[in-house]
Amino acid sequence: MPAGGRAGSLKDPDVAELFFKDDPEKLFSDLREIGHGSFGAVYFARDIRNSEVVAIKKMSYSGKQSNEKWQDIIKEVRFLQKLRHPNTIQYRGCYLREHTAWLVMEYCLGSASDLLEVHKKPLQEVEIAAVTHGALQGLAYLHSHNMIHRDVKAGNILLSEPGLVKLGDFGSASIMAPANSFVGTPYWMAPEVILAMDEGQYDGKVDVWSLGITCIELAERKPPLFNMNAMSALYHIAQNESPVLQSGHWSEYFRNFVDSCLQKIPQDRPTSEVLLKHRFVLRERPPTVIMDLIQRTKDAVRELDNLQYRKMKKILFQEAPNGPAGRTPGP
Ligand code: ADP
Ligand code: MG
Repeated sequence: MPAGGRAGSLKDPDVAELFFKDDPEKLFSDLREIGHGSFGAVYFARDIRNSEVVAIKKMSYSGKQSNEKWQDIIKEVRFLQKLRHPNTIQYRGCYLREHTAWLVMEYCLGSASDLLEVHKKPLQEVEIAAVTHGALQGLAYLHSHNMIHRDVKAGNILLSEPGLVKLGDFGSASIMAPANSFVGTPYWMAPEVILAMDEGQYDGKVDVWSLGITCIELAERKPPLFNMNAMSALYHIAQNESPVLQSGHWSEYFRNFVDSCLQKIPQDRPTSEVLLKHRFVLRERPPTVIMDLIQRTKDAVRELDNLQYRKMKKILFQEAPNGPAGRTPGP
């Protein structure tokens, strides 16, 4: 029997105390889908008690492999519960209903990957520096507590309304460094994670690698090797030289930051703590960079064609209680 018991079992008091006993259907209203994953979907919702907007990740533990799904939910909830930092997503609690866990979190407008999708263009260098700085502060916090995120990419870096950058998605995270399992998303994976399949261990530096890949993603819209299938990409990452920024127009600071993150040998790669002193993130930039980026994105969403608009209108959800304003829904 696995540590957390069978799917849905609350016999173990350590498991039972992870969940509120209330019926979430009675506490949250106005649910609207804002994201999708392997586990189910993420929703915008309003807490009826104080009308506060929250995000709810619904994770089902019925059907095939229900015990494994239940273990994954317990792991993610335990992880989220421990986090207390301005650059990690804030956890509000978890509820159970009909073989589904409702993981309630602070609400964000969208991910850095959504920004790329709306603009269909790379971000500007100051914007990349601001997003990277926020994510790096979140990582330094995790690493100082011996935690590893293991799935750093633009899709898991969230932006909140006051212009804050938050690490999200702790579904792959490890509570213990060093770790040795094969976890993450192929294109962003560090060589030592890929090689850990048959040798050795790794630590928080795998997140530094993925952050370097994320920098390239923000600068070029896709991570390197994205046109390859995942297996070939893994082989390539492990065997070949590190990728570099393609265009010559980026600053020397930015190139050097990416090169440092993408040192193949983990011992040559700086820690997140050391990188916090890098000039790429410390260089002066307007304090409103992220807020301006959010505004620019909202404006762009209003101009999207109908199909794209439907997908991205979530970025406008928080604006008006009765749905996005400034545009009449099309046919
Ligand atoms: P997965 O494990 O499937 O990647 P995530 O936790 O990354 O799940 O959530 C999937 C998507 O849902 C994210 O990429 C993001 O677009 C959206 N999302 C997740 N958490 C939030 C949140 N707190 N606020 C707003 N959107 C969120
Ligand atoms: Mg994710």
